[in-house]
Amino acid sequence: MGAIIIKAVSLVEPLKLQIIETPVPVPQKDELLIKVAYAGICGSDVHIRHGKNSRVQYPLVMGHEFSGEIVKIGAKVTGWQTGDRVVVNPLISCGICDACTRGHWHVCKKLGLTGIDVDGAFAEYVTIHSSQAIKVPAGVPLDIAALAEPLAVGVHAVDRGRIRLGDNVAILGGGPIGLMVALAAKLAGARRIIVIEVSDFRLSMIKQLGFTAIDAKNGDARQAVLEYTGGNGADVVFEAAATPVTSAQMTGMLRIRGTAVMVGVHRQLVGIDMQDVNLRELTILGTRVYESANFVAAVELLPSIAELGKLATHRLRLEEIDAAFAATESGQDSLKVLLHP
Ligand SMILES: [Zn+2]
Ligand SMILES: [Zn+2]
Repeated sequence: MGAIIIKAVSLVEPLKLQIIETPVPVPQKDELLIKVAYAGICGSDVHIRHGKNSRVQYPLVMGHEFSGEIVKIGAKVTGWQTGDRVVVNPLISCGICDACTRGHWHVCKKLGLTGIDVDGAFAEYVTIHSSQAIKVPAGVPLDIAALAEPLAVGVHAVDRGRIRLGDNVAILGGGPIGLMVALAAKLAGARRIIVIEVSDFRLSMIKQLGFTAIDAKNGDARQAVLEYTGGNGADVVFEAAATPVTSAQMTGMLRIRGTAVMVGVHRQLVGIDMQDVNLRELTILGTRVYESANFVAAVELLPSIAELGKLATHRLRLEEIDAAFAATESGQDSLKVLLHP
């Protein structure tokens, strides 16, 4: 009998995505074969599609935010059964660099991801190392489970920002990551959560989710944050837009001794008012993906965030990959686009 042929989306060169037919991958002794249920498209996938990630080698099957079911188990794997519903922590760390030996696997010097450095989940099936799988809580549908990865980014950012009960929080950027930060900040006990956005669709979503929306197209966003915070500024500002404009605004939205958390990934040098950082004793913190504990927390929090499903605006088939990327890139009427192989 010949190998079973499956469908996958392959990025063969920048901007060229092709549906390919390929043999079903065979799990190695320490791996699991996952039948992909849902896979989200990330901003970093958009970047990769445009050929702007120097790590990427073509052809590549992208997809690092995904859920599915275990269908085959490597010979040496224990603790998993076929039929188990899982989400996947896509981080692949070297285990021997300075960061890894100190336990900070998520900032590994050679950090790689399933779906960026090895083939990922824009496919019917994918293999992963067994240690990457995390069980989906009973009752959580697999489309919601696929949101665990971006939620883990929000959990990590909130963890780094050390939100305290009653804090006022401002978030620059109301895309999927900004909203994940908002949802995590609410669970962490933030009082007022202000999200600054330009897209009308996203502004209406921010309101629907119960957060304070500031339309950055209408006047001075900094002034609006100050008005909502008694003239003092927010205790914690999350920069989830990663633009020169938002990073320049960031410190002015903070209260004295406030904290700015960098969530969006900047691709260029930006201006920050460092004298403001000096004189008002501000803190600026970096974040990169998430620690394992943040990912586990995100999975465990899935059942308690009723609004999460609203963020999954599109569910499309692999054949609709170009439309899926177009929706993600425009952001006009989309938040998280999920592929459903
Ligand atoms: Zn992502
Ligand atoms: Zn390492």
